[in-house]
Amino acid sequence: MKYFYVGATPEVERPPLEAVRQRMAAEYGAPVKEIVLPSVEFAFDTGRQQYRSMDVLEMLARICPADAAKLLALTGRDLFVPVLTFVFGQAQLGGRVAVVSLARLRQEFYGMAPNQEIFLERAVKEALHETGHTFGLVHCSGQRCAMSLATNVRQIDGKSAAWCAACTSQLRRAKGVIR
Ligand SMILES: [Zn+2]
Ligand SMILES: [Zn+2]
Repeated sequence: MKYFYVGATPEVERPPLEAVRQRMAAEYGAPVKEIVLPSVEFAFDTGRQQYRSMDVLEMLARICPADAAKLLALTGRDLFVPVLTFVFGQAQLGGRVAVVSLARLRQEFYGMAPNQEIFLERAVKEALHETGHTFGLVHCSGQRCAMSLATNVRQIDGKSAAWCAACTSQLRRAKGVIR
């Protein structure tokens, strides 16, 4: 039996983890298990005051349980790769592990009033996006598709919390664990 693991690093609060866990359970055919993840402080870059996304992915690959089909991590820390200002998340293309950063998904980050509904919706969309990559999906040109590339929250808000028909059928072929 293979499980779809969802976990969070210690600073993550329950609501986003719960929202993402429920959606992954609804979306993927594999039963979902929760895993407690370690802090990502080891990946802190003092120069950038952010966290190295690649190092986090490598850590996830190391601790990924043997019975995991996939492991999706949520972190409250702001992730980056050297060539970009930040990333909302990262995944091994066609691999087992993915991470989503919640750091830039809250309205407060942009000086706006908190809105939990918008925050959770963004977290779910980015979870669909990054886990889609683990099933081999690449970026989609459909702006409403969860696999379209978002480099700001406006683009995340413009996506639907679902894959387009083409990405959905590719996912079905990729795995067979998709309903
Ligand atoms: Zn992507
Ligand atoms: Zn698509």
